[in-house]
Amino acid sequence: MRPLPHPAERRVAVRVSRDALRQVRGGHPWIYSDSIESRSHAGDPGDLAVVFDPNRKFAAIGLWDPHSPISVRVLHTGKPTPIDTDFWRRSITAALGRRRDLLESGDTTGYRLVHGENDGLPSLVIDRYGPVLVMKLYSPAWFCHLEPILAIMVEMLEPEAVVLRLARNVAAGETHGLADGECIHGTITDEPVAYHENGLRFTAYPTSGQKTGAFLDQRENRALVRHHAKGRDVLDVFSYAGGFSVHAAAGGARSVLSIDQAPQAIAASKQHMALNAATNAPVARAEHHTAVGDAFAVMTELADAGRQFGMVIIDPPSFAQRQSSVTGALKAYRRLTDLGLRLTAPRGLLLQCSCSSRVSADAFYSAVLDTARQQGRHLTELEFREHPVDHPIGFAHGSYLKALLVRVES
Ligand code: SAH
Repeated sequence: MRPLPHPAERRVAVRVSRDALRQVRGGHPWIYSDSIESRSHAGDPGDLAVVFDPNRKFAAIGLWDPHSPISVRVLHTGKPTPIDTDFWRRSITAALGRRRDLLESGDTTGYRLVHGENDGLPSLVIDRYGPVLVMKLYSPAWFCHLEPILAIMVEMLEPEAVVLRLARNVAAGETHGLADGECIHGTITDEPVAYHENGLRFTAYPTSGQKTGAFLDQRENRALVRHHAKGRDVLDVFSYAGGFSVHAAAGGARSVLSIDQAPQAIAASKQHMALNAATNAPVARAEHHTAVGDAFAVMTELADAGRQFGMVIIDPPSFAQRQSSVTGALKAYRRLTDLGLRLTAPRGLLLQCSCSSRVSADAFYSAVLDTARQQGRHLTELEFREHPVDHPIGFAHGSYLKALLVRVES
């Protein structure tokens, strides 16, 4: 690995609008470029920016990025504090402390260690897959702080390898000779990395998979599916690598049908089912069927053919990448509820999820329940869940995950 860049000694001094100052003091982690009223000099991505209040008193310190619509990613507010190895160590220790139960659980070795702004490290994600750590940068400001953070992670967790992942916008800019998927500590082979989730066996490709290799945020909802699956025929829509499918089978499902548009995702779901069947009798007993195709089309076909399932899981990708697509996203959720209800047998269960941060929990919840009412279906709500412990919500916009489990009475 080449030597990594370091932040400039000289900090960027900034003054920001009153509104931005109020928000930062209230815990908001971003300062947008249009709130910057003055700055001492242009600076480079990753330089430290000190925010002063109108009385020239220290208000906050954060990572500067002159090229992003978010100029400052706030690391600390209140009293002046140096951003040095001790600061990083304190932040990471606090993040690990929040996850102590997971770190000690033994039956789960795939989880998120650092969840960006929600753990006080804006735009930095660190995930663990068994012996491998993945550091994903969502801002180029992190390049010049990578070295001390990598050293702390290696010292505290002793991973076999650390993989660097770059979000698309970061990979497209100056990367200081580093590439997306590069191993920055230890060695990694082309083999997938094995990890456990709730005692079940999974694998991921941290160097190339979606996000950092898997969707770790659904672990607790997968356990919920396992708990309710016994004897049911289960439909897992947007299955990706079969996280829900394998949990349903382990819970004693009679059969599982996994649907995804990506052939590699369906191939991975088959591998995961086989991997667990070797050591888990209920998984070995469950029939596994798969369909590669558009979820809406496949669900429509199944519903038109009169197929019904004892449990339907719908976990789509985010439908609202922009504020303007929220209405479209809600429409898609309603359409999925409509199809999901047609496919759920009486007394069956429907688990519908949303990972669109722009769609509020209330709006999502109402969309599902209104759709059921319009169809004349009667539901009993069993669970409404948001974030698991390793994906904490640290500020108002930090929440995105919602999952509603209902029993369809009639
Ligand atoms: N439930 C999964 C995560 C789902 S991520 C888990 O537990 O890990 C969303 C998945 O939806 C991706 O695998 C993506 O390939 C798939 N997808 C996106 N659009 C789709 C569509 N229109 N039809 C079917 N699958 C789709």
